[in-house]
Amino acid sequence: MSTVDAALIHERLVALRERLTSLGGGDVKIIGVTKTHDAELVRSAMEAGITDIGENYAQETVAKLQDFGPLPVVHFIGQLQRNKVRKLAGLVDVWQTVDRLELGTEIAKRDPGARVMIQVDISGEETKGGCAPAETGRLVEQVRDLGLDVVGLMGVAMLAEPEEGRAGFRLLRSLVDDLGLAECSMGMSGDLDVAVDEGSTMIRVGTGLFGPRRH
Ligand SMILES: *Cc1c(COP(=O)(O)O)cnc(C)c1O
Repeated sequence: MSTVDAALIHERLVALRERLTSLGGGDVKIIGVTKTHDAELVRSAMEAGITDIGENYAQETVAKLQDFGPLPVVHFIGQLQRNKVRKLAGLVDVWQTVDRLELGTEIAKRDPGARVMIQVDISGEETKGGCAPAETGRLVEQVRDLGLDVVGLMGVAMLAEPEEGRAGFRLLRSLVDDLGLAECSMGMSGDLDVAVDEGSTMIRVGTGLFGPRRH
C-alpha cells in the first residue's frame, strides 16, 4: 500500500489548482514529481487526475515504468548521463534536462524528433546542472539542428528562501520570450508562488502532492 491514496492526492491537486488560479496561473501545467515513490503511487496519481509525471533517476524510472502499462506523460527532470538515454527512450516523453550538445546528440539518436527542454543554470550553483544563460540560444539552435523539438526551457532555483529564486526565474522567462519558445518549466513545492508570479508555464511538484520522499 502506498502511504498516500488517490483521494488525498486529488484533494491536494484541487487545492493546488485553486492556489494557481488565485495567483493568476490557472493555465500552468502541473507535473507530479514521483521520484522515490513506487508504481502504485503513480497509479494513484493518475486516478487523482495527474496527467504528467516527473522522474529524476534513470534506473528507478526504468524499473518503475517499463512494465507499467499505459503511461502518463513522462518528463525526465533529473541530471542525465548520456549512457542512460538508451534505456529511457520509449518511456520518456519530454527530456527536460538537456544542458549540453552531447546529451542532445544521444537523445536524437535514441529517440529521434523527441520533445526536449534546455536546462539553464539559474541558480549560479553548477551542481544543479544547466547550461550558462548566455549559451542558451546557441544550444537551442544546435539541438534543433539535430531534429529535436525544443519546446522550452527549464530551471531549478532551490535556494534557501523562495524570494531568492526570483531573479533566476525572471531571467529564465526572459530567455524563453527572447527565443520565442512556448514552455517555461520553473517552480517546485517550495517556490512555485514566486515562479508563477514570474511567468512559469509548468511547475514540478513532488512533496506538495505526495508527501515526503521515500529516500
Ligand atoms: C525533486 C524535484 C522537484 C520536486 O521537488 P518538491 O520540492 O518535492 O516539489 C522538482 N524539480 C526537480 C528538478 C526536482 O529534482
